[in-house]
Amino acid sequence: MIPYGKQDINQADIDSVVSVLKSDFLTQGPQTPAFEKYVSDYCGASSAVAVNSATSALHIACLALGLGKGDWMWTSPNTFVASANCGLYCGANVDFVDIDPKTYNLCAEELEKKLIQARKDNNLPKLVIPVHFAGQSCNMKKISSLSKEYGFSVIEDASHAIGGRYRGKSIGCCQYSDITVFSFHPVKIITTAEGGLATTNDPSLAVKMKSLRNHGITRDVSLMVSASEGDWYYEQLALGFNYRMTELQGALGLSQMKRLDEFVARRHECQEYYDELLCDVSVVTPFQSPDSYSSLHLYPILLDQGQVNKSREQVFKELRASGIGVNVHYIPVHMQPYYKDRGFKKGDFPKSENYYKSVISIPLFQSLTKQMQDEVVETLGRILE
Ligand SMILES: *Cc1c(COP(=O)(O)O)cnc(C)c1O
Repeated sequence: MIPYGKQDINQADIDSVVSVLKSDFLTQGPQTPAFEKYVSDYCGASSAVAVNSATSALHIACLALGLGKGDWMWTSPNTFVASANCGLYCGANVDFVDIDPKTYNLCAEELEKKLIQARKDNNLPKLVIPVHFAGQSCNMKKISSLSKEYGFSVIEDASHAIGGRYRGKSIGCCQYSDITVFSFHPVKIITTAEGGLATTNDPSLAVKMKSLRNHGITRDVSLMVSASEGDWYYEQLALGFNYRMTELQGALGLSQMKRLDEFVARRHECQEYYDELLCDVSVVTPFQSPDSYSSLHLYPILLDQGQVNKSREQVFKELRASGIGVNVHYIPVHMQPYYKDRGFKKGDFPKSENYYKSVISIPLFQSLTKQMQDEVVETLGRILE
């Protein structure tokens, strides 16, 4: 089976993890801070806070921005559930903004419409989380200008997008947001097995997130309420969590970062070859915005349902049966039973629902060969015939 995504681990990655195992620190040592420094320098942000998953990063990012009970948080329905759940963890209300049918990203024009209505209804969001779907940036310029006009904070969920750029700058530079979050799950662009990271240019947000990932504890004397009682002394100032990244993960992440540009370039080669091969197949290939250099986490194709007389389910089944490990990104979050129980229903976000009906992600990863791509497209062509 050719999987839809796959990590790329080399000897240098293995050596870096083994050397941590032989060192004095398995956690809270020098590797994770070195990884953070590398990522913040790469992205051009002043701080980075590494944690044990992007889900944790989203949670503490929401808390650091003050999201709480009674507040509204909005995100895209076309995402993994974690982008929405983080709002619920904080006790906030979650709502969605439908997608742009061209980029499959949260639509900035829909956002504006919904903000105009929310201002009338007096329920403006405190926080909006645009998701850079498949590695392509949302229209951050417009979202950022709306954030100033309507007074909400912005977290970029860039779980798919490390190594990508928007208007010439690295995703994660936070030019148009308060915080950007990355995921290092093995199907993403680089991996630390499990892991996530938040970048920001606001030192106070970085301090808050560093405290929240470590039980709300500080060892910084200047932040303490009382005088230090000795070198052992620390103070818990907030209710935090254990969301720390281990040294094994930090070392792996640091080693992987050194190949990030190569990884993304390789994904672009694969994308260009798919675009070429799929010219004569009746599917819609993913649109690439000129504002964005996508990290190409996914290659989602839309079946042209006027042309094809098989259902998406049937095509998916036949592809899997032929050894092509396809997947579907995403079931709209508001259609999940948990969210339906919270009042959402079919028809609430029709563009995401329509997109979901015909989308299939075909394999895309660094070590995907031309022969494998030929096989994917030949199989697809045969099934759609
Ligand atoms: C993978 C993913 C997450 C969650 O990442 P974890 O590191 O697995 O917690 C969040 N948002 C999006 C868009 C993702 O794809």
